[in-house]
Amino acid sequence: MTVVARFAPSPTGRLHVGNIRTALHNWLWARRNGGKFILRLDDTDRERSSEENAQSIRDDLAWLGLLPDEEHRQSDRFARYEAALATLHAAGRVYPAYESAQELDLKRKVQLGRGKPPVYDRAALHLDPAEIARLEAEGRRPHWRFKLDTGSSIEWDDLIRGPQHFDPALLSDPVVRREDGSWLYMLPSVVDDIDMHVTHVVRGEDHVTNTALQIQMFEALGAAPLAFAHEALLVGSEGKLSKRLGSLGADALRDAGIEPIALLAKLARIGTSLPVEPVTAPAPLIESFDFATFGRAPARFDMEELAGLNARIIHQLDYESVAPRLPAGMGAEAWAAIRPNLASVGEAAIWWSIVQGPVAHRAAEQDRPLLAQAAEIAERMDWAENPWAALTGALKQASGRTGKSLFLPLRQALTGRDSGPEMATLVRLIGKDQSVARLRAAAS
Ligand code: GLU
Repeated sequence: MTVVARFAPSPTGRLHVGNIRTALHNWLWARRNGGKFILRLDDTDRERSSEENAQSIRDDLAWLGLLPDEEHRQSDRFARYEAALATLHAAGRVYPAYESAQELDLKRKVQLGRGKPPVYDRAALHLDPAEIARLEAEGRRPHWRFKLDTGSSIEWDDLIRGPQHFDPALLSDPVVRREDGSWLYMLPSVVDDIDMHVTHVVRGEDHVTNTALQIQMFEALGAAPLAFAHEALLVGSEGKLSKRLGSLGADALRDAGIEPIALLAKLARIGTSLPVEPVTAPAPLIESFDFATFGRAPARFDMEELAGLNARIIHQLDYESVAPRLPAGMGAEAWAAIRPNLASVGEAAIWWSIVQGPVAHRAAEQDRPLLAQAAEIAERMDWAENPWAALTGALKQASGRTGKSLFLPLRQALTGRDSGPEMATLVRLIGKDQSVARLRAAAS
């Protein structure tokens, strides 16, 4: 069996961390099994869907490296849904209903008032042809409901949640098509999953009840049931699905300097029993991906933790993988020296500009003689060997200073900063002439 997974966002907005996580899990599962990863755009809502959003979804997936093997869109497939509805109609599994939203609302209120579950009463099933004719003559158009088989319980073994049971008698026959002819997501999704030979549906646990209804649709259309994995939802560090998290997209994370691999490393593992690890490529995430490690409790997403993970990953990235994003002229030695100080790759440019200069720093009164001495020693030194060791060694002798009182004024004079990358590498990168000039300027 070839594993086929799909990520099915509605292009009614941009992706946020919650649905990026779902995309990732589908991609990991497909890759783990040498299977196929499909991007399906659920764009039956023509008003709210846009090509711009569809493109932003593709761009975000590309940035993350989650490239689909195929792409489909529901708006290309209306004829297929029409055909499926006809099949179900012929089999007596869909029926037209004419109640308005207000009438349905009233029915629900009455049922709740009597302490009953607000399940649709199937009144439309008992309309005789004369009543239907009268309703149509009033100008009413039907919406279509899928008729649930209430004979036995709906069951599946969820890859994350374990055995699931639903009593269909407690569920309303779902509306699959609106009176204006537009499709609700439920039936098209089933038709697509069948046509695209999807083997695994991996999505949020907000879809669990939909799955119960859709399992009967798969059966009614003669398809073998597939495997389902419903993941616990993502919550913010404060424990709720915050507004902020719901709108936190790839562009904001990119702007914050988050590496795609850091986001993948985090989203692959939070909510599972596996530790979040600073990996620099997705291979270990693919190899270890297993629904059995997923917990039932909500997965916590914390932006600060992500930033910390991001830094740990950047500190390991090799020069080749970041070179195109580094300032012109910045080589492998500079990257190796600077990367332990970075929270984002973009910050490398700050350190590189410090290396290149100019650096304006005027030392405190009491440090000026030391720096003048340093400039003199530096001027006479051979810069080729280990200039920092040589400079500080000689200066220690000459000045009698040690430790911070020796090193800090030098660092400040040479970089304009109190802290930063290893001075031993920095002075080599800065070069002799620039170093002497900076020491002199700080001493004057
Ligand atoms: N468009 C649906 C959603 O974004 C798809 C759910 C599914 O994966 O079937 O919630």
